[in-house]
Amino acid sequence: MSQNILVTGGTGYIGSHMVVRLIESGYTPIIFDNFSNSKPAVLDRIEQITGVRPLLVKGDIRNEQELENLFRNHQIDAVINFAGKKAVGESETDPLLYFSYNVEGTIVLLRVMKKFNVKKFVFSSSATVYGDPGYDEFNEETPLAPINNYGLSKWMIEEVLRKLYKAEPDWSIAILRYFNPVGAHESGLIGEDPNGIPNNLMPFISQVAVGKRAHLNVFGNDYPTRDGTGCRDYIHVMDLVEGHLNALDVLSKGPQLLTVNLGTGGSTSVLELIKAFEKASGKKVPYQICPRRAGDKAAYWTNPSLAKTLLGWTAKRDIETMCKDTWNWQSKNPQGYPD
Ligand code: NAD
Ligand code: UDP
Repeated sequence: MSQNILVTGGTGYIGSHMVVRLIESGYTPIIFDNFSNSKPAVLDRIEQITGVRPLLVKGDIRNEQELENLFRNHQIDAVINFAGKKAVGESETDPLLYFSYNVEGTIVLLRVMKKFNVKKFVFSSSATVYGDPGYDEFNEETPLAPINNYGLSKWMIEEVLRKLYKAEPDWSIAILRYFNPVGAHESGLIGEDPNGIPNNLMPFISQVAVGKRAHLNVFGNDYPTRDGTGCRDYIHVMDLVEGHLNALDVLSKGPQLLTVNLGTGGSTSVLELIKAFEKASGKKVPYQICPRRAGDKAAYWTNPSLAKTLLGWTAKRDIETMCKDTWNWQSKNPQGYPD
């Protein structure tokens, strides 16, 4: 019998790719999303790719009643929680919003799960929980010291999960710390569709390439890196969601708490990414060098060995594929999803 997986935030960037892979792997995803950062058109695209229209329940993870109705009406085997807010700058100006969406929302969700005896949970954490430990290659033992409210909200949820597991060891929990997710499904039908001016590098580059923005601002070229620009561990979103499938498999073996970084183990500078994108798209990406962005670390990436040991998972797709798939999505959907 196919397992029902509740995917909160399942119409968002990472969630939509997860839903596609879940369907293709024989699961039945049920999406719960309030469309605060996504559009219903995503569902048509998921259907175009998979031939299956996933069930959608519209609602907010902070609303206990809506979640209880969902759990009452559907048998759920496991939950993957993507619902949340992710803009670092906004988390600094509106911390309560972030603690409400991310922390309060996840606690409400866990409470409802417990009430309905669903105890398999995969959580989207982030490399931002690490802050700056004074070195560049992170592993799961790297001290947790988030330097912004977004990262703090992820750390707070992680703490809740660690305390929950300690008190109730019959839960199966995977905390997955993502490095820098980029790219899109190879069909170009789903991808990242940021609201307004993108905060992140890859969507900004692709909007410049498609002619939506005149140039890219490169935040600093005086870092102690290969070419002076910031280096990150970019991971293809399809690799990322495939890591979640492995995590579900491992969780189904029994109660446990797993904490794993999901990244490639490599790093790419801003200038290297621009060059790779120009090659993949055949478009020029004009840029200008600007001052450093506050709070940026020069370089970091993950040591990917624990993911391999615990999940049997390694990222397969390279930077060229990440750029090619991003461009395929962006060039076919220059304005993102239709309203
Ligand atoms: P996204 O904004 O594209 O997707 C989030 C989805 O959740 C959206 O569809 C939004 O409408 C929905 N949502 C938000 N709050 C909700 C609520 N209270 N109730 C119901 N639905 C709600 O973001 P994404 O890039 O797909 O990220 C998914 C998760 O992964 C987030 O938790 C994010 O913090 C985490 N993450 C993302 C990145 C990244 O770079 N994209 C990196 C590390 C971690
Ligand atoms: N960056 C940049 N211009 C932009 C956005 C980002 O030069 O418009 C740089 C940023 O300083 C960092 C890298 O690109 O070195 C990745 O930034 P992003 O915001 O995508 O990821 P994060 O810093 O959150 O890991």
